[in-house]
Amino acid sequence: MRAIEYAAPASVDEAVRILAQHGAQARVLSGGTDLIVQAREGRRDIAVIVDAKTIPEATELRLEQDGSLYVGAAVPCAEIYENAEVQRRFPALIDSASLIGGIQIQSRASLGGNLCNSSPAADSIPTLIALGAACQIAGPNGRRTVPVEEFCTAPGRNQLQDGEMLVALTFPAPERNAGAAFERFIPRNEMDIAVCNAAAAIVLDGDARTFRSARIAVGAVAPTPLFVREAGDALAGQPLGPESIERAADIAAQAARPITDMRGSTAQRRHLAKVLVRRVIEKAVERARA
Ligand SMILES: Cc1cc2nc3c(=O)[nH]c(=O)nc-3n(C[C@H](O)[C@H](O)[C@H](O)COP(=O)(O)OP(=O)(O)OC[C@H]3O[C@@H](n4cnc5c(N)ncnc54)[C@H](O)[C@@H]3O)c2cc1C
Repeated sequence: MRAIEYAAPASVDEAVRILAQHGAQARVLSGGTDLIVQAREGRRDIAVIVDAKTIPEATELRLEQDGSLYVGAAVPCAEIYENAEVQRRFPALIDSASLIGGIQIQSRASLGGNLCNSSPAADSIPTLIALGAACQIAGPNGRRTVPVEEFCTAPGRNQLQDGEMLVALTFPAPERNAGAAFERFIPRNEMDIAVCNAAAAIVLDGDARTFRSARIAVGAVAPTPLFVREAGDALAGQPLGPESIERAADIAAQAARPITDMRGSTAQRRHLAKVLVRRVIEKAVERARA
């Protein structure tokens, strides 16, 4: 047993001061659903826990006048999927937030924690990438913004330096005729780690017969969640239909670099990447047309 200090800062500045003072031994807690488990198993050497749930900037959920969305890093998943405006405008976010763990986990767990834990199989990261979300980071040297697709650097590792914290995730306003969706494959229905997951965000032309642009991301098939830019680019300017969608799904599957482990084989994961990407594009198209 080892005592761990607990800090409940009232502002980002105060949190950054504490984090900078303790270096790598200070950890931010957003929901604690990963952190507490890791601390209990001795997987992390923690001297101070800095609670983000006491920081207003990290707990606010706000739809801006211009249609963009601000999600504080520690906002729990349940608050996100219970918000009617988010349901209407960002349904892919609801797909992810509503299947991370069960209700108890969702009442604590945040998208910020899911991202900062930086698991290759995290269920929100492909959606954040597809939606073009940005990380708002604060640290001893001030603030910076990083696109989510550049945030994770290796399993469990990311761009955050000692003393830095994720304050919020920001999402651009969805364009007209836009749709997005997320799906994952797990071998059973409840609470398991994804064998593969995928998200797509697409924009259709005014006639709803051609793809104008698309962003596609796949998880659990590489050391970090993958933004497959070329799969989205392959859809741009193409007519809606099985051929264009199949081609984008093929490109995403080829970009995957899966491993074989107890959850699935390389071949199964590559196959799943193709199937899931096809499904999320089709669902995103349905949503764009609705
Ligand atoms: C029973 C159970 C089921 C689960 N099911 C799923 C699932 O289906 N899908 C899935 O993806 N995950 C799942 N998880 C894992 C976990 O719940 C998620 O990853 C969750 O989103 C983590 O969020 P959190 O707010 O609890 O993070 P925390 O535990 O608070 O933090 C996670 C990590 O990120 C760091 N961190 C947190 N916030 C910040 C911040 N603001 N700035 C800097 N660093 C920060 C912490 O120091 C820690 O290293 C499950 C966990 C459990 C226990």
